[in-house]
Amino acid sequence: MSRVLIIGAGGVAGVVVKKCAMLPEYFSEIHLASRTVSKCENLQNEVGKDRVVGVYKVDADEASEVADLIRKVEPDLVINVALPYQDLPIMDACLETGVHYLDTANYEPKDEAKFEYSWQWAYHERFKEKGIMALLGAGFDPGVTNVFTAYAAKHYFDEIHYLDIVDCNGGDHGQAFATNFNPEINIREITQRGKFWENGAWHETDPISVREDLDYPNVGVRASYLLFHEELESLVKHFPTLKRARFWMTFGDEYLTHLRVLENVGMTSIKPVDFQGQKIVPLEFLKAVLPNPGSLAEGYTGRTCIGTYVTGMKDGQEKTIFIFNNCDHAVCNDEVGAQAVSYTTGVPAMIGASMMLQQHWMKPGVWNMEQFDPDQFMERLSQYGLPWQVIECDSPFKR
Ligand code: NDP
Repeated sequence: MSRVLIIGAGGVAGVVVKKCAMLPEYFSEIHLASRTVSKCENLQNEVGKDRVVGVYKVDADEASEVADLIRKVEPDLVINVALPYQDLPIMDACLETGVHYLDTANYEPKDEAKFEYSWQWAYHERFKEKGIMALLGAGFDPGVTNVFTAYAAKHYFDEIHYLDIVDCNGGDHGQAFATNFNPEINIREITQRGKFWENGAWHETDPISVREDLDYPNVGVRASYLLFHEELESLVKHFPTLKRARFWMTFGDEYLTHLRVLENVGMTSIKPVDFQGQKIVPLEFLKAVLPNPGSLAEGYTGRTCIGTYVTGMKDGQEKTIFIFNNCDHAVCNDEVGAQAVSYTTGVPAMIGASMMLQQHWMKPGVWNMEQFDPDQFMERLSQYGLPWQVIECDSPFKR
């Protein structure tokens, strides 16, 4: 018996629900809750009431509402695919009720973009004492990129020194400007200052100011920009031999021009402004007028290529490997009616949940993905839609 409560009913949740529904051997009973219950009902109608057996309205900003729902449903695990703002109230509810927890993004306060794990790591002792587990950042990046790093360290190196995580979306959705996951979270992430780890310290850069033109397998050369991404924080903590750790994401000129204009006129700000007697947050308003990322799947062409370059030492020799996955937007749409960014997030969340429920990854406390043995997770990636490759190569990065 493995009963899950999934919270959130957006683009990523759609993939998690559908993939869990395909695997009754891992997920015997699925319950789905979100702020807008009609979105849960739509998903329930798509997969069938025999697989999603209950749908509920919940405001997951309120820990007590989530705890009441958990007591009613009695799940073994809560899969949080709502927004990062809800991480702590949902973790509080899990602590209160003694239920395991999984998410795909670190907690964020609404009024400040931080992208750090400090708040959630602070729950470690309480989760341990309660005998429950939290798995943090179980999407692709963070998530699979952490597991790729652990897999490289386990099988290819005696010691790892340089890490470059690269995230390329080589797809075309045909819209002038759209984000591939929740616009509010995505734009907060991109417009913050860049940051990377080198020689024991964090170094900052201006937003989107450091560029490398990288050649991505099965996609081609794409302009890639240095960003801070949350998995860097946990990876440098858990792999202290790293001398440098960076994250790169591709953006087209058209996307960057739109973003610059929106920033210049204040539309990406998270500080509330007065508008006709009301306080509104410009970025929240922008989200309301941008395409819903979940709606981009139809007609989306091209592939993503997300992976991890690792350089380190093996038997006294330095070498570099690249572990990566290519994911085709159209193939994801055919399988579950989603684009590849939702798919590459939702599939690892489903696999992480299966690893916990089957006790492969199960220990009380709050953990990041790289803290577990990577092998079985890597097998399941290939099995459930995200096959990966390892190539030995020269590093494309300068020292
Ligand atoms: P969406 O905006 O499409 O969906 C978010 C869902 O959460 C919506 O259904 C929304 O409800 C619901 N929600 C928001 N607030 C609340 C609340 N207070 N109570 C209950 N439900 C709420 O986002 P995505 O699906 O694109 O992203 C989901 C998560 O995945 C995010 O945390 C994102 O950061 C993360 N992510 C992680 C990635 C990774 O690789 N690790 C990559 C991409 C995304 P409503 O429908 O009412 O708005």
